[in-house]
Amino acid sequence: MATERTLTIIKPDAVAAGHVGDIIKMFEANRFAIVAARLVNLSKKEAEGFYAVHRGKPFFESLTKFMSSGRALVMVLEGENAIARLREVMGATNPAHAAPGTVRKLYATSIERNAVHGSDGPETAAFEIGYFFPDVEPV
Ligand code: GDP
Repeated sequence: MATERTLTIIKPDAVAAGHVGDIIKMFEANRFAIVAARLVNLSKKEAEGFYAVHRGKPFFESLTKFMSSGRALVMVLEGENAIARLREVMGATNPAHAAPGTVRKLYATSIERNAVHGSDGPETAAFEIGYFFPDVEPV
């Protein structure tokens, strides 16, 4: 299996609720190494650029407003098969469908306020890492 890098965001709901430490603990327990990190307070425009693929969807306005509503912790994680494995550790988008023990099952409060983001494929990971960390190699 290949070493990969992926982009995660601990979203404003989880930062505000004080879950940063617990979520990072889960990442580290699952053998992800943090190779870059930034605490950000996204502007609406930055959130719209990050989620550009969702432009036009009914939840785009609400999502980008939420993502720019407070501090968020953006990180590049590295590990074996990191992209798919992080998605497993995160759990399903809708916490009602997330498996027990996943980040979203534990900390998400709705389909929108779902605690974490994780890249969904190698091309997305390269775009998303570059969006926040232009100097970091996507691997
Ligand atoms: P992800 O890859 O699991 O994060 O899910 P998506 O790429 O489909 O959606 C991006 C983000 O948009 C999700 O993490 C949610 O925060 C939000 N989202 C997705 N679907 C919905 C929805 O049906 N309603 C609302 N309000 N937000 C949604």
